[in-house]
Amino acid sequence: MDYSLNSRSVAEATEHWLRRRGVDKREIGELVMFLQKEYYPGLTMEECMDSVERVLSKREVQNAVLTGIQLDVLAEEGKLFAPLQDIVLNDEGLYGCDEVLSLSIVNVYGSIGYTNFGYIDKMKPGILKRLNEKNGKDVHTFLDDIVGAVAAAASSRIAHRKQAEKETDEYVDEA
Ligand code: MG
Repeated sequence: MDYSLNSRSVAEATEHWLRRRGVDKREIGELVMFLQKEYYPGLTMEECMDSVERVLSKREVQNAVLTGIQLDVLAEEGKLFAPLQDIVLNDEGLYGCDEVLSLSIVNVYGSIGYTNFGYIDKMKPGILKRLNEKNGKDVHTFLDDIVGAVAAAASSRIAHRKQAEKETDEYVDEA
């Protein structure tokens, strides 16, 4: 496929690489549901998926997804320079650049994304558990943070929207 540089091709490459690395967007939607269902009992999977799509449509998010996945793949192929090769391959705990890259995703809907990101990284529900299982073949050093960050940002977007809806309702009630 031709992934030369234009906004459509960057979006398509992002979709392509997430799929190729075994990420079903629905599983990201499930993480959003996991993070938000307690606060918004009526929340639907459709709303969660819509939010995931919105996050993934942002160019800075796409850039982070593509960068992280590229590094994971190069590590799998043994193509990074030493010592980075071993650091990424072994997902060294103190490396931290995987989390830092993901912050550019977490940030897109404001700072409340940080709490969601930290929480989901700690709990590792659903797909995050799978991505963290080391099978000696797949490298997901960046991907696990990327997926958690997309879910965290999508959750923040929902929280902001729900708040805006609530404030609009209150305003209408008062008027
Ligand atoms: Mg990681």
